[in-house]
Amino acid sequence: MVSSSSSSRPDSPGASSSSSDGALHNTWAAELVLEKRLGSLALEEEQEWPDPLFTSFDLDGVAEYITNQKAKRIIVMVGAGISVAAGIPDFRTPGTGLYDNLQAYGLPHPMAIFEVDFFRKRPEPFYRLAQELYPGNYQPTATHCFLKVLHDKGLLLRCFSQNIDSLETLAGLPVEKLVAAHGNFDKAACIDCNREHDTEQVKAHVDQGKVLQCEECGGYVKPSIIFFGENLPAKFFECWEKDFPQCDLLIVMGTSLSVTPFASLIGYVDKKKCPRLLINRERAGEISEKMYRGGARKGFFWGKNNYRDALYLGDCDTGVRELCEKLGWTDELETIYAQTRDAVAAAVQKPKSEDQDNSDDSSDSSKKNPTRDSSTSSK
Ligand SMILES: [Zn+2]
Repeated sequence: MVSSSSSSRPDSPGASSSSSDGALHNTWAAELVLEKRLGSLALEEEQEWPDPLFTSFDLDGVAEYITNQKAKRIIVMVGAGISVAAGIPDFRTPGTGLYDNLQAYGLPHPMAIFEVDFFRKRPEPFYRLAQELYPGNYQPTATHCFLKVLHDKGLLLRCFSQNIDSLETLAGLPVEKLVAAHGNFDKAACIDCNREHDTEQVKAHVDQGKVLQCEECGGYVKPSIIFFGENLPAKFFECWEKDFPQCDLLIVMGTSLSVTPFASLIGYVDKKKCPRLLINRERAGEISEKMYRGGARKGFFWGKNNYRDALYLGDCDTGVRELCEKLGWTDELETIYAQTRDAVAAAVQKPKSEDQDNSDDSSDSSKKNPTRDSSTSSK
């Protein structure tokens, strides 16, 4: 489906364009071509409407589907919306503390912090942001714990996350079950010679607010968060190709589905057999009735003749708790939630703040895989 060679890291990250949009388009050009090709295939589809896959297109219908053991290989896709309740700051919003802090570094615009060209000139703002977002500062939400419940029940095929906060793995999800589509803090490399650097060393520098430079060439060292103009991790493409054809229930939570190629993933499950659920504050990834009637099936469609898309509009944690209640999973969910909260509190032992002292809990973060939030690159 997608050549894995397209996912290797570029040798010259500086090649990214200066505008976020331009960089995005360059990076994902190959994917968009693929999207177009597959989209045109979808349009040739027949006009017959399959039998509904859910008895109702809401949480009741989804719970019944799962209870009837029709879902054994669930893929969950998540975005920034699932971490809102954890308090992950939205640094893009003027007026928030973090954004204002970052302004002190003279960012031309908020997204510059994820541009390699800017990083090459001014790595300090990213290091400041990393200090804030480094795994360990925030506690997983009920939604993150829901992933662990699905995994414990042997129902989770994979979680694809756009978030870089590692809260999925902090909630107990094994690293192999997570695809951190926008990278994470698990690795770090020099932006000039690509030499990998020890993450403990990086963490120590981040904690002290110092920028780490490559011992070989003096270039700046950057954690493996995906910047604009950089390719997504190889694992993203490998798991995309392997997992989506066998998925039997797709659950999408807390994302506006505005960033490709992540957003396009929802179109890669079996359109006849695999039902989907969106839990989000607003509708996302939706196609028009005209497109639907024309045979398009990749986007969500909740209108007439919908046969497979369920929708819950609202807060992710509330939706997940309601679904778990219908499934009789409330005890498991709340137990994991309480355990995770206690474990993280014990490990951190300090509120996220300016104190940049010890960070010996960084070994904990070997299990983390942060991502970048959906709306980040959508502008
Ligand atoms: Zn170097």
